[in-house]
Amino acid sequence: MTLDIPGRQASHQAAIEFLARGDHPMLLGADWVPARSGKWMETTEPATGAVLGRFPDADACDADRAVQAARTAFEQGNWPAMTPSQRARILWRAAELIEQHLDELAELETLDQGKPVWVGRYAEIPGAAEQFRFFAGQAQRIEGNTVPTSINYQPAGKQVFAYTLKQPVGVVAAIVPWNSPLVLTAMKLAPALAAGCCVVLKPAEDTSLTALRLGELLLQAGLPAGVLNIVTGRGDVVGAALAAHPGVDKISFTGSTPVGRAVLAAAGGNLKRVTLELGGKSPVIVMPDADLDAAIAGAANAIFFNTGQVCVAGSRLYVHREVFDRVVNGIADIARGLKLGHGLDATTQIGPLVSRRQAGRVHRYVQDAIAAGARALVGGGRLGPNDSFIEPTVLVDVRPDMACVKEEIFGPVLVATPVDSLEEALALANDSDYGLAASVWTRDLSTAQRTAARLKSGTVWINCHLMFDASLPIGGVKQSGWGRESGQAAIDNYLELKTVCAVV
Ligand code: NAD
Repeated sequence: MTLDIPGRQASHQAAIEFLARGDHPMLLGADWVPARSGKWMETTEPATGAVLGRFPDADACDADRAVQAARTAFEQGNWPAMTPSQRARILWRAAELIEQHLDELAELETLDQGKPVWVGRYAEIPGAAEQFRFFAGQAQRIEGNTVPTSINYQPAGKQVFAYTLKQPVGVVAAIVPWNSPLVLTAMKLAPALAAGCCVVLKPAEDTSLTALRLGELLLQAGLPAGVLNIVTGRGDVVGAALAAHPGVDKISFTGSTPVGRAVLAAAGGNLKRVTLELGGKSPVIVMPDADLDAAIAGAANAIFFNTGQVCVAGSRLYVHREVFDRVVNGIADIARGLKLGHGLDATTQIGPLVSRRQAGRVHRYVQDAIAAGARALVGGGRLGPNDSFIEPTVLVDVRPDMACVKEEIFGPVLVATPVDSLEEALALANDSDYGLAASVWTRDLSTAQRTAARLKSGTVWINCHLMFDASLPIGGVKQSGWGRESGQAAIDNYLELKTVCAVV
């Protein structure tokens, strides 16, 4: 099978103008600058391999400049000292600007990342705007407590009065992956800025364009210079420099588990606060009493949405044996009908993976699985002019010890296993180093509630999967990470709790 991808151009005037710049400098303090070394990196369109533009190939020296700019803004600038209402207005304005630039941002994201344009247009870019809107509200709800103590020491005529304050942690380094660049960036920037922190953002090297455009929009929204700095470049250079930098107070990292471990080790030098949103291998459990049509459609969407490049993708399927054939054949039928194509083609359902390299990695998992005895019910092929497309794939006859079952593939590849009972499904679902998300499909309320309680994961969906909202905490247990993003508590990632105890 071959896949001809006609070249596609941005059609939105603002996206055309942005791309026409060719070189996209990074943001340090008030200035858009190249790397001090003068080096640039190219970013390419995944579907075709065409060069889209260049951004600075920054190094540790540039990372240091960005940290200094953020430190100066934090210690001497007015951002932490602004009233919550003032900060909230700027974040709210940022949400509005993102929405006003929705089509432009969706096109840029598609060209840089490859995703079908409707994914950005209807899910991720509005999701990014909602993060700013939600945390604009949270900026005004940062509260300490008054604390009744049992301290005996009370000089005559005086009393002990104790309370807590929540204060911004300081300079935050936010490191972001390439699968959903803008919304994952917003999930860090919105709460960090709402808390009054100053930020150095390090986008992924495959997808830096929308982060740079977002930087412009945030300045337009009124963010003071230095509060957000964007330093582009390689993860093992710039990311590693930020993780180890003594001037960074907090690292907020989203990415793979191995890199998360490296970030954690590097952060140990000055004992930075660390939150980690890492990999997943999320199970989908289908019981025989489920609405099977809904389960089939839901399980297919859980693995094929965004071409499987979703941290919480439903990549392991456990189906009761009574309905196994119907469910996996139904998902395979959907897979066969999905239209592969360029992300800017409005009819495309499956775009390329983010890069030829990532497609090679995913394809190796499929080939190794087949060599080890698995069977591809559908898919398995690698296509496209840049070899960057992977057919939606369903693997059966898999064993729990296979790499395709144990490891995160991060592509449109589902591994399906029949089970004889809910107990067996739970045991297999929980037999993973990961614990990011899971779903269960059943009409039985008791099965649903028991399963939700016993699945070892940060999120459990019942009769749905991939349901996100700025108000819903998301994050992992086990090796899927530390902490949560989104939701009210996420702002605490960027706050320190201070105790004040007074004799007055
Ligand atoms: P990655 O770990 O390779 O890279 C993530 C980011 O870290 C990039 O910006 C990269 O440049 C940087 N980086 C690389 N090496 C570094 C180092 N030594 N020190 C500091 N930074 C470094 O991940 P990826 O391949 O870009 O993204 C895919 C991964 O992200 C998957 O594992 C996916 O599950 C995970 N992810 C998790 C969530 C979540 O919320 N849990 C969300 C999205 C993606």
